[in-house]
Formats: sequence, structure tokens, C-alpha cells
Amino acid sequence: MKVASSLSDLRSTRLSLDGTVGLVPTMGYLHEGHLSLVRQAKAECDHVIVTIFVNPAQFGPNEDLSKYPRDLERDLSLLRPLGVDVVWTPSAEIMYPPGYQTWVEVEALTKGLEGAMRPGHFRGVTTVVSKLFNATQPHKAYFGQKDAQQAAVIRQMTRDLNFPIEIVVCPTQREVDGLAMSSRNKYLNEAERKAATVLFRALSAAKELYEAGERDAEKLRGRMKEVLASEPPAQMQYVSCADYDTLEELDMVKGKTLLSMAVFVGKTRLIDNFVLG
Ligand code: AMP
Repeated sequence: MKVASSLSDLRSTRLSLDGTVGLVPTMGYLHEGHLSLVRQAKAECDHVIVTIFVNPAQFGPNEDLSKYPRDLERDLSLLRPLGVDVVWTPSAEIMYPPGYQTWVEVEALTKGLEGAMRPGHFRGVTTVVSKLFNATQPHKAYFGQKDAQQAAVIRQMTRDLNFPIEIVVCPTQREVDGLAMSSRNKYLNEAERKAATVLFRALSAAKELYEAGERDAEKLRGRMKEVLASEPPAQMQYVSCADYDTLEELDMVKGKTLLSMAVFVGKTRLIDNFVLG
């Protein structure tokens, strides 16, 4: 497994790879969610490149950039047994050299949900992912359903900018009690960790209503709010029942639908979603 940090190192290694290349972009502090993307990439491509870069451009001024968990040695030891060919760990100076002024922005799809709560977040994501695509020239790129809006935005960007890359979205990996795996779960203390299952419980309760025949989107949102309110350490930021493709809020559910939410558990902001239909 080649570990590259400079762009020239990455480029010369990339040129030496024959056949198809799968890219798994991450911010590191890897868990089973990330590793599931790597395994899928490995199963579908001749070579796998994993990038580890905590992207300052996608963090807001009051977000957790400086305390975002990092442990490169641990990450590398998790990736080695999976047969990863290349790990690229660029510095912020490589990705955003002094005087940097070029940004990639997806419009309508980034207005709601996470985009509404985290101004500038998706501009940071689409810019860095474009740069990772350019640098690594993959045939396929792997993203998690856990970040549903991100996956939708990347798909749109890839189409709009004619990147010759197939976007593969992989299922959300969960702990046994349903909590979606996330590097940010590390911030939770014991009581918060317990309370954090409320996201999964709220989504499950709304799904149950849906499976019993409920199609009124407001009722599904209401059910999620009710379950979240039953767990006081959890403070809802939003719940949504939206069209899967446009991410617009629905009145009535028909076709593929995204139930999603952002919830503060203590100071930690968690997101999760289910797909219906
Ligand atoms: P991050 O390091 O949080 O930027 O995540 C890197 C990639 O892993 C993104 O495509 C995420 O959607 C994906 N990912 C994060 N958590 C999970 C999870 N629990 N299950 C599946 N994919 C995940």
C-alpha cells in the first residue's frame, strides 16, 4: 500500500495503475462505514485509492474543524488488510494553495436540508471532490447513503461537469443498536451515546407508519418529531420527508422518498436517514 502525500507522488503512482480505479474519499478516523465503501470498491475495481483529507472548506466557522478526530496510523492499519493500493493524504496547502479562488457550486439541490443548516458546506464538498476526482482520475467513486444529500449533490455535479466517473452509493453501516456509524460518535459521552439511538428510533417509527399505509408526509415528520422529543438530551434541528431526487419537502409521499434529520445530542450534531419506496 503506497501512502502518498504530495501531488506529484500521487500522480506518478496513479500513472502506474493499469485497469479500473475506484476512489473512496474520506476525512479519516475510519470506521466500518468507510471500510464497507473500500470493500465494495475493491470488489468492483482493479485498484482502490483512498483519500484522507479533513477539508477545511466544508466546515463552518463554528463547526468542529480543529477538534475533528484524526489518527493516520490507525487509519492506515485498518486499510492495509483490505488490499488498498494507494492512500493519498494531501495537506491543506496542496488542496488550497495561497491565493486560492476557484469553487464548484451545485445550485438547487444544496439549498435545503444540510445546505440550509450549514451555509457553504456543499460548496466545500463539491470543490474538494472535484479536485480529488481530477487528481486521482477514478472510474468509479464510492460514497455513503449516510450522507444522502451529499451523495445526491455529487451525482448532480458529476453529471453537470461531465466527469467520466460512475458514482456508487453504499448502504449506511450501523452499530448493533441502530446508531449510524460516524467519526463524530467519538464525541458522545456514555449518556449521550445511549440517547443517540433516538435518530434510528424516530426513523424506524416513521417507516412503520409508512408501511402501515400512511402517505401524509406531515404525519411522518410529526412521528419523527414525537420520538425525538421523548429523548430530552436530543435537540432536533430539522426533520424532513422529501422527494429522493429533488430533495423538495413533500405533502404526500409517492415514489422514492428520503426521511432525514439532523439532531444535536449534547454538543454533537448527528444526521441520519432512511429511504422509503
Ligand atoms: P467522512 O469521512 O465522514 O467524510 O465520510 C467519508 C465517506 O464515508 C462518505 O461518503 C460518507 O457518506 C461515508 N460514510 C460515513 N459514515 C458511513 C456509514 N455509517 N455507512 C456508510 N458510509 C458512511
